Amino acid sequence: MAAHDPVEQKYVYDFAEGNKDLKDLLGGKGANLAEMTNLGLPVPPGFTITTEACKAYLTTGREPDGLAAQIEAHLESLEREMGRRLGDPDDPLLVSVRSGAKFSMPGMMETVLNVGLNDRSVVGLSNQAGGNDRFAWDSYRRLIQMFGKTVCEVPGEEFEHALDEIKRAKGTHNDLDLDADDLRGLVDAYKQIFAKHTGREFPQEPREQLDLAIRAVFDSWNAERAILYRRQERIPADLGTAVNVVTMVFGNLGPDSGTGVAFTRDPGSGAQGIYGDYLANAQGEDVVAGIRNTVPLQELEQLDKTSYDQLLGIMARLEEHYKDLCDIEFTIERGKLWMLQTRVGKRTAAAAFVIAGQLVDEGLIDLDEALHRVNGAQLAQLMFPRFQLDHEFEPVAKGIGASPGAASGKVVFTSARAVELAADGESVILVRRETNPDDLNGMIAAKGILTSRGGKTSHAAVVARGMGKTCVSGADELEVNVPAKKFTVGDHVVNEGDVVSIDGTTGKVYLGEVPVMPSEVVQYFEGELDPENTDDALVRSVHRIMTHADAARRLRVRTNADTGADAARARRFGAEGIGLCRTEHMFLGDRRELVERLILASGEREREDALAALLPLQRADFIEIFREMDGLPVTVRLIDPPLHEFLPPLEQLAVNVAVAQERGEDVAKEEALLAAVRRMHEENPMLGLRGVRLGLVIPGLFAMQVRAIAEAAVAVVRDGGKACPEIMVPLVGAVQELETVRAEAERIIAEVVGDSGVEVLIGTMIEVPRAALTAGQIAEAAEFFSFGTNDLTQMGWGFSRDDVEGAFFWRYLELGIFGISPFESIDTDGVGRLVRIAAEEGRAARPGLKLGVCGEHGGDPDSVHFFHEVGLDYVSCSPFRVPVARLEAGRASITTTGSDSR
Ligand code: ADP
Ligand code: MG
Ligand code: MG
Repeated sequence: MAAHDPVEQKYVYDFAEGNKDLKDLLGGKGANLAEMTNLGLPVPPGFTITTEACKAYLTTGREPDGLAAQIEAHLESLEREMGRRLGDPDDPLLVSVRSGAKFSMPGMMETVLNVGLNDRSVVGLSNQAGGNDRFAWDSYRRLIQMFGKTVCEVPGEEFEHALDEIKRAKGTHNDLDLDADDLRGLVDAYKQIFAKHTGREFPQEPREQLDLAIRAVFDSWNAERAILYRRQERIPADLGTAVNVVTMVFGNLGPDSGTGVAFTRDPGSGAQGIYGDYLANAQGEDVVAGIRNTVPLQELEQLDKTSYDQLLGIMARLEEHYKDLCDIEFTIERGKLWMLQTRVGKRTAAAAFVIAGQLVDEGLIDLDEALHRVNGAQLAQLMFPRFQLDHEFEPVAKGIGASPGAASGKVVFTSARAVELAADGESVILVRRETNPDDLNGMIAAKGILTSRGGKTSHAAVVARGMGKTCVSGADELEVNVPAKKFTVGDHVVNEGDVVSIDGTTGKVYLGEVPVMPSEVVQYFEGELDPENTDDALVRSVHRIMTHADAARRLRVRTNADTGADAARARRFGAEGIGLCRTEHMFLGDRRELVERLILASGEREREDALAALLPLQRADFIEIFREMDGLPVTVRLIDPPLHEFLPPLEQLAVNVAVAQERGEDVAKEEALLAAVRRMHEENPMLGLRGVRLGLVIPGLFAMQVRAIAEAAVAVVRDGGKACPEIMVPLVGAVQELETVRAEAERIIAEVVGDSGVEVLIGTMIEVPRAALTAGQIAEAAEFFSFGTNDLTQMGWGFSRDDVEGAFFWRYLELGIFGISPFESIDTDGVGRLVRIAAEEGRAARPGLKLGVCGEHGGDPDSVHFFHEVGLDYVSCSPFRVPVARLEAGRASITTTGSDSR
């Protein structure tokens, strides 16, 4: 061999050669089959073709050199081990061909069982099974069915129809009533179906069956559904799938055989104890396909005590080994137990917390690992109210849980009707085939949204999540008829006005009103449930893990709160300060009139009067908040929105004036107001006169607010309390803006605080891209930065926040331009880069500069990890998100070697 010949790549691994950490190479299923083999568990022998082979095949369009020979070699050694040969007419070796990517993925080719059977070996199989013809022909018809469907894309219904046909002719619903002759006839029918659709006979050569099946698994990586799923779940497109070739074991050999699936704990609640289903005399896929009724796994104890005990032992062993909930697939062949699959099992949010807590108790994992195994999205889910479900309520349909929560209401089919009924105080559920931007008002008015089409990134799903509204999408059992104002589901007809209930977490749809119960996790956070003294395992576990997260985290967590009541709740939820106190609401309600006076003021005198009237009101607001926060930092943002938001809408005002003029009334005041509104009208108010610009244009406005803040702090301190105000100037783009505001503010503060000991910090928001890029200069005039990532995203992308989510984000998500709305989770590459630059340059100019973030992102799990990594001091988010941010800040701080949590 020439010296430069590359060493041939190893594409095939015997089960004994792999292990559970080789998921990238062997896929999840292959890696875990190898792990079980090496644990000495009874796994039918086999081998795995690597993801590398798949990738090579997908790039070049043909199997890589050496693959065929390696498969041959592994097949031969398998044949030697089993003492049987593939295709041997007297004693055939049969195998299954199973896909298995790193992450399990719907849309991928599944499994072909019984590969190796043909017209001759079916007889040999029967003889080997002691003359069990029925079994042999049943296995053969399954091969043609699965091979036809998954390898050659023959429509599966055709096979099902043929099976139904024979059952009907026999007058039975049970496939066990079919005898060998029936099944032989079925094989003929299947072969005809196969030939009709593929233009060729069913391949009789076993090695060809095997090669075609392997190739089909490779190809399925690029099936449309698989591509879509990867895009949505952000699974990289270039991982490829492995292929497992496994010696067949038979659960369909008679009543002493069978097949089942099991979990080592209840994946719904986390409760200890095995949990599973068993089906006697059946082959693998029957359990999931639901063709016959399974029995609870516990009943296996009566049927086959030896296998049952062995199974329980293995399950305990697997838990011990994986240190986590495992799910398994197994088959019993004539009293002999075989393990066909295991993996760390999926679980509900509640089970994730409960199990993590149990595993700590059992000494299998430590608290860091427990914290690693739960996440903020799960915690957020547990904080929504839930339906109180007992057996009275059976779902009539199941769609995609697109936006969590529980909602009941009267069904409406149009946006207009939703708005109408909601205005009468009714709860409504807007039902559509799919929604579009015209439905926006209806969606806002509705309690929940239910669609019969579309997935997690459909318009309905995206917009509902943005609004925090319950949504079930893609409930495709629903026949929605908008013109007739009804939908049908199964035998039910639901008309406009009928009540339905939808669960945005599970995707389930119920007829009638299902009672809602509050989340026990929220009760715990509210202090209504004592975690040390409850038998609620979930609450105990949440408490333990939260306590650990708090101890572990470096990021502080503050809240966005504008009122004393919000501040109080957020403190109960663990907030360590207020990161954003908006002052604009303090100008609404009865105070509008004062603001109008301010805006209309024709001279210095009038303006000063208006401001003087506002001052005590603002001061009282701040006193309440400072008292509530009791010495924790409170960041108050000076007034931010465009002033015209405080004035009546132009059209309405114009009409009022015209009508009043008609009647000959005195309209001088209204006319002045109208003129002011016209004067202030802006085409792009979000980029107009707002934030610091207002402060620079309207004399005395910021001064009044600064004075109110300082006086409130002094009042609280003089009263024996504590106050830590931080004044935040919004929308700064240049240091000169901040310097101007700062000079005046410092003068006022010095005058007000005197010797009270009150300290007031002055800082700015970083929300205009220019501010991020000139952060070094701005830091000279700021004691802190707070990243306003909503505006930074809006201006960074040039997305008008109020318009884009409903208008086109669904399309961007569908195309994979982004995987999640950048308003939901920070765009680390672009907007995040602005944050990083500003943090670095700000700190370089002023060491110790306090850095935080306020805005939706502060409570988003992925964003919290990013802010931790960038080195911010705190995040601030809405009160309900505070626990999520605490948990994720803790998770960001720990390093663990733990498993991939996807
Ligand atoms: P999925 O990922 O859809 O579960 P699997 O590859 O696990 O697909 O296989 C589908 C069914 O076939 C499972 O119930 C499995 O237990 C069964 N099965 C797979 N390989 C074999 C085999 N070699 N012998 C018996 N049953 C098998
Ligand atoms: Mg499986
Ligand atoms: Mg802003």
